[in-house]
Amino acid sequence: MDLRHAFLQKPRARSVSVVLPVLNEAESLSALLPRIAQVLVQEEVEWEIVVVDDGGSDHLAQTLREFEMQQPRPNVQLVRLSRNFGKEAALTAGLRAARGDAVICMDGDGQHPPATIARMLSQWRQGYDMVVGVQRAREEGQFMVLCKKLFYRFLQSGERFTIPPSAGDFRLMDRRVVQALLQLPERTRFMKGLYAWIGFRTAIEEFDADPRTAGASKFRLRQLMDLASLGITSFSMKPLRMVSGIGVLISLGALAYGVYILIETLLVGNPVSGWATLASGIMLLSGIQLICLGVMAEYMGRVFEETKQRPLYIVDWTSDHSSLAVPESRQQVAL
Ligand code: UDP
Ligand code: MG
Repeated sequence: MDLRHAFLQKPRARSVSVVLPVLNEAESLSALLPRIAQVLVQEEVEWEIVVVDDGGSDHLAQTLREFEMQQPRPNVQLVRLSRNFGKEAALTAGLRAARGDAVICMDGDGQHPPATIARMLSQWRQGYDMVVGVQRAREEGQFMVLCKKLFYRFLQSGERFTIPPSAGDFRLMDRRVVQALLQLPERTRFMKGLYAWIGFRTAIEEFDADPRTAGASKFRLRQLMDLASLGITSFSMKPLRMVSGIGVLISLGALAYGVYILIETLLVGNPVSGWATLASGIMLLSGIQLICLGVMAEYMGRVFEETKQRPLYIVDWTSDHSSLAVPESRQQVAL
């Protein structure tokens, strides 16, 4: 252990917030919350649970009330968003509400095992600012694995930070990290990229994802593709550069072909051949032009989203039964 590491070791009794963004997960939560509480009680830390209801339509408040009644002290915050804003926005709302010295984000569907929390906390106490949960084995088709690999390779070539591919939103963050994350002003939030961008001392904690307790996944292929596009357009300018590259290549090709035709006409003297080539050439070029326009439009759309300066989410109401004190640092975070 190096000196800096030893210096950064954190005292044992500190407060922890667990943030759960949920969309219709009341059923899963009624099983998950007592399991989380059990781990935190064993850890002997001050704790709270922040549940962000991302515009769900189930009996979430009732479930939380039942959970709180089983606890010796009330320690649940419920933040209800005015509609479904998406998991990224819900997470941000949760991070802003959280008060702990360490904040643990996890899914509300029971796929992230609460037992991992204890190991994350122990890494945090050893001085790490962020502990990333990395899923050990994922049941995914070969095609999906290949797509993800290509995506991350494309996104990160030439960047100064790395995004671990199997790392998701299950992670522990020190208050300093949370503060840094909340300072990032972008509206379009590719969280995996943002976590990596802010840096800090990061440790990896492997876990096996459990099957969902109830309900179905809210992410479909279409949304995954949107997320990939979001990731690329908010973290990489490569597609824009590729557009110019394609332009140069095609121009060189066209020039070479022109020279070839000129020579052929002069030598062989056949002025009317090549109509089919012309027609398919025009179609190919218009196709490429439209694709390039589309790429630029993606970026323009991203700029448009950012310039509107709309808030990430709107809070409908909050019920705050947390016993943790508001940390001073949180009041400094302006967004
Ligand atoms: N979620 C959310 N808002 C959404 C979609 C999902 O808050 O618009 C929550 C969901 O309730 C769950 C977590 O995000 O707690 C992860 O979602 P899910 O399990 O559907 O994703 P997967 O595990 O399939 O990646
Ligand atoms: Mg899930």
